[in-house]
Amino acid sequence: MRSASLASHAAYLDPILDRFDADPLNLLQILRQAQEHYGYIHPDAVDYLCARLRVPRTKIEGVASFYAFLHLRPHGRYRILFSDNVTDHMLGSGALMQRLCRDLWTRPGRVSQDGLVSIGRTSCTGMCDQGPAMLVNERAVTRLTPARIDAIGALVRARAPLSDWPAEYFEVSSIIHLRGPLLGDPPAPGAAVAAAFARGADAVLAQAEAAALAQVDAAGLRGRGGAGFATAAKWKACRDAPGDARYVVCNADEGEPGTFKDRVLLTERFDLVLDGMTVCAYVVGARQGFIYLRGEYRYLLDALEAKLQARRDAGLLGPHAGGPDGFEFDVRIHVGAGAYVCGEESALLESLEGKRGTPRNRPPFPVTHGYRGRPTVVNNVETFACAARIALDGVDAFRARGTEQSSGTKLLSIAGDCRRPGVYEVAFGTTIAEVLEFAGARDTQAVQVGGPAGMCLSTLEFGRRIGFEDVPTAGAFTIFDHRRDMFEVARNYVRFFAHESCGFCTPCRVGTTLLRNLMDKLHQGRGSPYDFGEIQQLNGLLQSLSHCGLGHSACNPVLDTIERFRPAYERRLVNREFVPAFDLDRALEPARAMTGRDDAGAHLGTLDDESD
Ligand code: SF4
Repeated sequence: MRSASLASHAAYLDPILDRFDADPLNLLQILRQAQEHYGYIHPDAVDYLCARLRVPRTKIEGVASFYAFLHLRPHGRYRILFSDNVTDHMLGSGALMQRLCRDLWTRPGRVSQDGLVSIGRTSCTGMCDQGPAMLVNERAVTRLTPARIDAIGALVRARAPLSDWPAEYFEVSSIIHLRGPLLGDPPAPGAAVAAAFARGADAVLAQAEAAALAQVDAAGLRGRGGAGFATAAKWKACRDAPGDARYVVCNADEGEPGTFKDRVLLTERFDLVLDGMTVCAYVVGARQGFIYLRGEYRYLLDALEAKLQARRDAGLLGPHAGGPDGFEFDVRIHVGAGAYVCGEESALLESLEGKRGTPRNRPPFPVTHGYRGRPTVVNNVETFACAARIALDGVDAFRARGTEQSSGTKLLSIAGDCRRPGVYEVAFGTTIAEVLEFAGARDTQAVQVGGPAGMCLSTLEFGRRIGFEDVPTAGAFTIFDHRRDMFEVARNYVRFFAHESCGFCTPCRVGTTLLRNLMDKLHQGRGSPYDFGEIQQLNGLLQSLSHCGLGHSACNPVLDTIERFRPAYERRLVNREFVPAFDLDRALEPARAMTGRDDAGAHLGTLDDESD
């Protein structure tokens, strides 16, 4: 590979560079497309990009090494990643992965000797309602069964291109069980924008503002991404910030394990989302918008680009954008590359600027210093859809659903132990018990609301209500019946945090790994009550010293489950005395194997005995 000439790299890289204006701000997009040629980013391609973009090699390698879906070394021609989410495991993904490894004579985490295939795991793929799922060269394959796995093994062995694989393998359905204003009859594209223009920007802002001040005066649009910040306050701060350029960014980096409602919104109501972005652009005075699409949803890109073009053709994007003279707004899609932390808005902006997705120090906040240091609104997909409905239907209609402090509806991604997984649009204020009833859940022992960073609720709490004032959520709602071991659920979530820690700050990088090791130690039956104290200490450390929310919330699933499902932990406490996390005797196993010794003297315990 290394022998490929620079000229041959120029042949495929130049068109990519032209498409992205040879601008280092687009580095992530350039690297994504550059790797499609060889399946990885060839070292000579890095040299060529350094020269054309005028950036040092360390910059390109630093960015490429940050993202899970970018590779500086060859991977298998077929790169297969099974979703590691807890619901995929509940549906048997572990056995399916072993089966495929057996079929293809390989092991997880390895590239096969002939370079044909690599098999591993990735964080939640956002297909929990149709799992088990996996990605093959970043394309989602859903509804895996043993028969499908065997067929895939045969296709890989036959080196069949993905275009020849049965289309149903790649089918991703929008499973919607309960519809409200967001998922009900779709308005005409641009209808919400027209309604907003008819009222005038101040009126729109006033509406949104009134709706957003829910915490104090009984109404409000609040961010649907989890934090629940008042949307109107954000828009107003951006509009009032000094500067001549402003941006609107739609956060479609839906990475929280267990959530997939934004995938459905983008698929089914993209025009509503774009209407909301356009209304926002009108209010704040932005001309450029971005959609940050998570890498796992890359398969949506062509359809979304086609819809953007259709809106341009209809005059709903570009000059005028369906509005008065002088107004202009267009939207570009930026595809992520497998980094959960980029869901954090400042990390997302770094990624949008072609850098590693490391969360920024705040303040200053993105509303004043966002994309390229300019005032920027970053809102979730669902928030923009809500903003469009407010512009279209008015505040009263929006407030007619929900509670005093949480107005409107909430999309829930329901998965796990229930008969009807899928997306449900419920009014805020709906109880957990009612949601379980909708979903056909029976014998439920726990619900994880809001993903691993959210809350774990037991049966005693099923009367609680979805809403910012009680059970806030970005949308994940994962159900566990009494067959499930809640310790293993928490261990899966802890593994997720350790895997997704971006490594920028030591407390999180080390703390999440220590937490994972402690849970593994308990899992192996080597834990003691002392380890609960260790977990508490780690939580204090992560809470106080982590740079962003990932570190702050990493202990949540463990603390919640210790409090509610303590017997699941107690069962694993074989030892009442402290046992070190590091098993020195086990670590010496390779040395014993090399020396051919396994006698008593080659084991630590025996040495202790001898010294007595
Ligand atoms: Fe990265 Fe974790 Fe630090 Fe956040 S807390 S910046 S994810 S290392």
